[in-house]
Amino acid sequence: AKEEGRNTYRFYTPSLTQTARERLGLEARLHRALASEEFVLHYQAQIDMRDGRLIGCEALVRWHSATEGLVAPDRFIPLAEETGLIVPLGEWVLRQACADCQSWRARGLTDLTVAVNLSGRQLRSPDLVERVTRVLRETGLPAERLKLELTESMIMDQREQALERLRALKALGVRLSIDDFGTGYSSLAYLKRLPIDELKIDRDFVRDIPEDSSDMEIAATIIAMARNLRLNVIAEGVETPEQCDFLIRQGCTAGQGYLFGRPLPAEAFAQVMRACG
Ligand code: C2E
Ligand code: CA
Ligand code: CA
Ligand code: CA
Repeated sequence: AKEEGRNTYRFYTPSLTQTARERLGLEARLHRALASEEFVLHYQAQIDMRDGRLIGCEALVRWHSATEGLVAPDRFIPLAEETGLIVPLGEWVLRQACADCQSWRARGLTDLTVAVNLSGRQLRSPDLVERVTRVLRETGLPAERLKLELTESMIMDQREQALERLRALKALGVRLSIDDFGTGYSSLAYLKRLPIDELKIDRDFVRDIPEDSSDMEIAATIIAMARNLRLNVIAEGVETPEQCDFLIRQGCTAGQGYLFGRPLPAEAFAQVMRACG
C-alpha cells in the first residue's frame, strides 16, 4: 500500500504543483486588484412583472483585469471566499452599492432598493453588523433601502450563530433575502425562525419552465410557501414571457432576468432608469 501511495503521489505531483501555483498567482492578483480598484459593480434590475415598474436592483461584482478583461465572479469569488479576501472585497461591494443607490435616490429614485450578495465568510465575521452599520452611516443610505442576499446553505452551516447575526441585521432595518432558494436543505421549521423578508427562487427552477413540469411544481410550491409564511418572493433568471406569465399566475410578481435586462455598469444602469422615468 505504501508503494502504491508513493507512486500515486509521484504521479500527481506535477499537476498539483501546477494548480497550487496557479492559485497562488490568482490570489496575489486578486489582492492587487482590490488595492488598485480593479473591481466594478454591475446592476441588474428587479421589477414588478405585472407592470414593468422598477423596484430595485442587484449589485453583481466583476473584476476588470488589465490582462484578462472583464472576469465573471464565478472565477474569483470561490477563491476570495477560501482565502478570506472576500471580507474586504465584500465590504467594498457593500459600500459601493450603497453609495450608488444613494446617489440614484438623490436624483429622485427614492423607492429603489439595492440588493447585495453576502458570502459565508462575511456572515461568520464577528463585526459584520458593525461594518454594515458603518457603511450605512457613511453613505447615508436608509437601512430599509438595503437588501442582503444570503444563501440557505451558508445559514444552515452556521445555524445558531447565523440566527443571532440575522436578528441583529434585521434590527438595523436592513431587509434579508434567501438567495438560490430551493437548492439547499432548510426545513420549514427552521425557515420559520429566521427573521427574513424574502425568498428568491433559484434560476434552476425557472430555466425550464414550461417544459419541465417538476420544476414548475417546485416554483409553485416555493411561491405558495412564501405566501403562507408571509414573505416576499422574487424569481431570478426570468428569460421568456412564458416564464413571466406562469410566475405571475402562481402569485410571484417580482422578477429579475434577461427578459427585463442584463446586469449593466452603474452609469448605463442609471441611464436606463432615467429612460424609464
Ligand atoms: P447569483 O447571486 O445567483 O446572481 C445571479 C446570476 O445570474 C448573475 O450572474 C446574473 O448575471 C445571472 N443572471 C441574471 N439573470 C439571468 C438570466 O435571465 N439568465 C441567465 N442565464 N443568467 C442570469 P453573475 O453576475 O455571473 O454572478 C454569479 C454569482 O457570483 C452570483 O450568483 C453570486 O453568487 C456571486 N456574486 C456576484 N457578485 C457577488 C458579490 O458581490 N459578493 C458575493 N459574495 N458573491 C457575488
Ligand atoms: Ca444573488
Ligand atoms: Ca442563483
Ligand atoms: Ca430542470
